Amino acid sequence: MEEHTGACFLCGKQMTHGMKLKKVFSNVFTDWNQAKNPSGTHVCPACCFSILTTKERYGLRTFSNVANEEHLWLPNRVEMREFLLRPPDPPFVVNLAVSQKKHIAFKGEVNYSRDIFTVMYEEMPVLIVLKKFKKLLTIVEHFLYGFTKTEITTGEYSQKRILDFGIDAWEAFEEQVKPYRGTPFLDVVMFVAQRIENEEELKCFMVSELKINLQEQQPYLSTPSTEAVTGKEGPAESTCGGKSNGSPKSAQSEQLALDLF
Ligand SMILES: [Zn+2]
Repeated sequence: MEEHTGACFLCGKQMTHGMKLKKVFSNVFTDWNQAKNPSGTHVCPACCFSILTTKERYGLRTFSNVANEEHLWLPNRVEMREFLLRPPDPPFVVNLAVSQKKHIAFKGEVNYSRDIFTVMYEEMPVLIVLKKFKKLLTIVEHFLYGFTKTEITTGEYSQKRILDFGIDAWEAFEEQVKPYRGTPFLDVVMFVAQRIENEEELKCFMVSELKINLQEQQPYLSTPSTEAVTGKEGPAESTCGGKSNGSPKSAQSEQLALDLF
């Protein structure tokens, strides 16, 4: 880092200290078109941080990350799910590392709203309307009870699993997911979706949200013996009223939270 007055090559922000370009970028760096100030000769401390920490244990390049003005988090997928459902104080950025190979930290878009925001799915900006996101995530997490992520993503389902799940039920779920198939929005949902584990919860969701008549359903979803099977979780919570939007593991770990500067 040396004294330098001017705008950062990468982000365009004014700085008093910075690093020369050739000290920051390696020969294999290819994102030159990302420069906000292409004639700049130096990179600011914040950009240096996001690029040069890739060799450290918590390299930004290989981890999904969430950052606001106070913190940088490197969440796992369960924690990332929480962040998407309850974003931090704006302004914030959210980057999902998919290949874990590309530089994504400095490409994130800055968000000023918690209701509508953009996350980077690798290098693809994806607009998240929180209400819509919650709805699709809930559907997918219940759908995952009977199907794999690949099936839901591709639309190619195992016939046997459809029969096991119940054709009507499968259809009702599929109808909700279909419009999003092939969109990066569904990719983001899939990235963080956690399968629900409780069959009673699935049944409640089918009845209350998808208006499925379980009496007419054939296979395992309506067999009386399932009552006994699901009883192991404790019978007290089998009412459909208290629908929880919370995560299976809601404790958001901050152990990876690092102070930014
Ligand atoms: Zn910068």
